[in-house]
Amino acid sequence: MKKNILDFTKDELEEEISPKFRAKQIYQWIYQKYVDNFDNMSNLPKELRIKLKENYEIYIPKILKVEKSIDGSKKYLFELKDGHTVESVLLPMKKEERDENGDIIRHTRFTVCVSSQIGCKVGCAFCLTAKGGFIRNLTAGEIVSQVLAIKKDNDIASNRRVNIVYMGMGEPLDNLDNVAKAVKIFSDENGLSISPRRQTISTSGLAPKIKKLGEKKLGVLLAISLHAVDDKLREELMPINKAYNIESIIQAVKEFPIDLRKRVMFEYLIIKNVNDDLKSAKKLVKLLNGIKAKVNLILFNPYPGSQFDRPDIETVNRFQKYLLEKGVLCTVRESKGLDISAACGQLKEIEVKSGNTV
Ligand code: SAH
Ligand code: SF4
Repeated sequence: MKKNILDFTKDELEEEISPKFRAKQIYQWIYQKYVDNFDNMSNLPKELRIKLKENYEIYIPKILKVEKSIDGSKKYLFELKDGHTVESVLLPMKKEERDENGDIIRHTRFTVCVSSQIGCKVGCAFCLTAKGGFIRNLTAGEIVSQVLAIKKDNDIASNRRVNIVYMGMGEPLDNLDNVAKAVKIFSDENGLSISPRRQTISTSGLAPKIKKLGEKKLGVLLAISLHAVDDKLREELMPINKAYNIESIIQAVKEFPIDLRKRVMFEYLIIKNVNDDLKSAKKLVKLLNGIKAKVNLILFNPYPGSQFDRPDIETVNRFQKYLLEKGVLCTVRESKGLDISAACGQLKEIEVKSGNTV
């Protein structure tokens, strides 16, 4: 069977192909010129192209469906080789900055929210991805090609850097080896050139894996899905807390190497009448004491059949105000793509009958 060339870091490709500099050229063709077949790699010798064609493929998943939200975000449904599907979301964020003359310049920053698994084993009570169970890990190439396909589909210039958040389907640290590989492939300067500092890995708190991720010294940013400040409630919402409680997560975060200019993000999903009170906010402040943290409040996004309710914005604002008053950096996450079910926790696998698109 042919190997997917997108699964290889440049170092690995240099081991496979000689002379080594050809790996760099292949990377440029695929990730910077968006070329998806070896025949068009015109600066490679013909024999090499033949050899490549015999042994490798450039496998980019098929786009089955694109849904555009009124807020500009787009949800992609991809079909993988084995017929399973994953979703990814393109989030354009408008930024305003002043140039040296003080004039306002507006530009759009793109963030791609990628999936790391088909389904998820963690089984959080509030998450739609969890409902379908776990199917399999994605390979590094399957993670990377979500971004490649989206950049291509939107004509995003190859030198336009995007941000990556590993916040789609799946628990990235449960697929650590492939995610770590994807981080490296994304950041290669002959490829997409997305610095690890623009890549955020979000985890439900697999404490030993946070440690392992830290040991890899990739330089990525870390986000922790905390969502509750006492173990009893957290266990109800996130069964993984029975294995790794809040204390063990906080300890792992304290040991995690992070760029001095950056902060660890704590995601706090606010669910109406569950964890939205100021007593929880107070406990949260205490918990984060001594950590360079920022809190990102997420409003629960409902889906058909969900057992929880979305909080009112006033409750969320009150929670945020309390944290800010106590000196904790805190933002409220804009729910992008709510109208197309592309918001946090709303991504899921879709059954594709062969030959039919959804
Ligand atoms: N598995 C990882 C990353 C994917 S989920 C993790 O849990 O961190 C990305 C974020 O969406 C997490 O913070 C998750 O808790 C949150 N989320 C899950 N379901 C949600 C829902 N229904 N509404 C809002 N956020 C949700
Ligand atoms: Fe998995 Fe994250 Fe959903 Fe929990 S919130 S089930 S860890 S994807």
